[in-house]
Amino acid sequence: MSTRPLNIDPQNCFIGGAWVPPLGGQALDLRNPSDGTTLCQIARGDAADIDRAVGAAERALDGDWGRATAFERGRVLAKIGALVLENIDELAVLESNDVGKPLKQARADVVALARYMEFYGGAADKLHGQTIPYLEGYTVYTLREPHGVTGHIIPWNYPMQIIGRSVGAALAMGNACVLKPAEEACLTALAFAEIARQAGLPDGALNVVPGLGAEAGAALTKHPRVRHISFTGSVNVGKLIQETASAHVVPVTLELGGKSPQLVFDDADIDAALPFLVNAGIQNAGQTCSASSRILVHRSKFDEVVMKMAARYRDLRAGPALDDHDVGPLVSMRQKDIVESFIAQGHDLEIAARGEIVADAPAGGAYVTPTLFANVDPGHILAQDEIFGPVQVVIPFDDEDQAVAIANGTDFGLVASVWSQNGARQMRLAKRLRAGQVFINNYGAGGGVELPFGGSGLSGHGREKGFEALYGFSTLKTVAAFHGEDK
Ligand code: ADP
Repeated sequence: MSTRPLNIDPQNCFIGGAWVPPLGGQALDLRNPSDGTTLCQIARGDAADIDRAVGAAERALDGDWGRATAFERGRVLAKIGALVLENIDELAVLESNDVGKPLKQARADVVALARYMEFYGGAADKLHGQTIPYLEGYTVYTLREPHGVTGHIIPWNYPMQIIGRSVGAALAMGNACVLKPAEEACLTALAFAEIARQAGLPDGALNVVPGLGAEAGAALTKHPRVRHISFTGSVNVGKLIQETASAHVVPVTLELGGKSPQLVFDDADIDAALPFLVNAGIQNAGQTCSASSRILVHRSKFDEVVMKMAARYRDLRAGPALDDHDVGPLVSMRQKDIVESFIAQGHDLEIAARGEIVADAPAGGAYVTPTLFANVDPGHILAQDEIFGPVQVVIPFDDEDQAVAIANGTDFGLVASVWSQNGARQMRLAKRLRAGQVFINNYGAGGGVELPFGGSGLSGHGREKGFEALYGFSTLKTVAAFHGEDK
């Protein structure tokens, strides 16, 4: 436990290294989804606050942060990572109360945030340029440079992990960040800013402006001096952001979710697969971009897989986040209504099993009963749309070609997994599946600080995580020096 309490005042923005009230003086209520009570009030930052934050980031780039060497940037990131771990108890409780995430999962997210800081801290001075053979009398080399001010629009489902992967990589490359956390869950973003301050990150290198998407978020996307936007969130807002950023021809990285399948073949080790099949669907109450919401099973194993998944589902309990049940509440009543309307659209389908909401769950909490549908047609809305709740569908297939056609038969392409002992099939499917990550005999929803992550189609574009993110958060300059031919 840290000896330094985090002491954040969520009614403030963090700009230029200081806690400042939003210029408009407005606040928003932040709800605890476990019971519906108001947790606290947060700043309702707007365009003027975003503009202040961009100014502070520019001053950081002109000052200490812009002058820091790659090694120094790495060292401060590593220090932030260490301080994140020192504050694990406080951060995990903040995230649980704010997102509704079961405490154990919130603790895992704190560890992931620290890992991102360690990984990108270590990577900061290891991305090298190239020398390029060219014409006689020239020496040509490349320089990796920061974009400048980068905008980070963060969703509510994994605030810490997504801050880690996006802000961590951006800072490692020497950018100065303006972060707009989600209005539903922003407390750990503010706590992270305070930790970064305590770790000695120069003023203005990281700025956090809480507020509404249509106000602070839109202002960040529109700002003419923001040089890169990274966004994780819904498809509709992603489209809007890409369109808005095009006004200034600003590059965007978009991670917009998916409908990720797990393919279970007749030679799969079903018992080894089982925990992954279910957990990848219900982790964080299914509110995970890379959740596995479709389970595709060879017809010869279909009944066995459905029976075993159903047994697990019947044991699932949804309840208050701090009580650490299998599933917490959804982030909001709005999200609960969306997921329940999806479940209602499955009225004509076979429900293989449902979990339970614990009897003492507060009435004001946003709980949804975990639900498993079997024998679902691949074209059904529940097998096509991202539900973002604790709901999975099981779909039978007859052969490999059909499995691939179903797996690739949505507008998304984020993650997929293959359960089979056949090495040749594993290799074939790793190539044929449309996904930014393919797992073989495992499923890595949310995991893998080191592993490049991102999708295609409606899942977005660009890659975060791993070394790959460092390319996205930097720009390449080619220097061609003419010094004359050798004498
Ligand atoms: P969800 O629908 O799951 O809540 P969103 O895509 O609406 O996800 O939100 C993800 C993030 O995008 C949040 O930080 C939100 O405030 C922000 N956001 C929402 N609308 C806009 C917008 N028009 N411009 C920029 N950011 C936005």
